[in-house]
Amino acid sequence: MDEIYAEDHDLEDEPGSRGYDADQDASYFCWACGEEIVVPVDPTMGERQVYVEDCPVCCRPNELHVELDLEHGGVRCWSEPVG
Ligand SMILES: [Zn+2]
Repeated sequence: MDEIYAEDHDLEDEPGSRGYDADQDASYFCWACGEEIVVPVDPTMGERQVYVEDCPVCCRPNELHVELDLEHGGVRCWSEPVG
């Protein structure tokens, strides 16, 4: 009697999200406290981005490096100490 529900509906597969049209999320590990921080990535800012952002956990400045991998559609993000 449950055959009506046999078809899986995958809610994570959003039809509107493709490529770099939408904002992406990247995550890095704070160099100071080791927490994993998720940051939104704006693809319109370029394939390689470097900027400073304070860690929301320990408030120390992180120099963030973001690289967009246009070939594979991935995002690389890591942090380094500032100065
Ligand atoms: Zn931190």
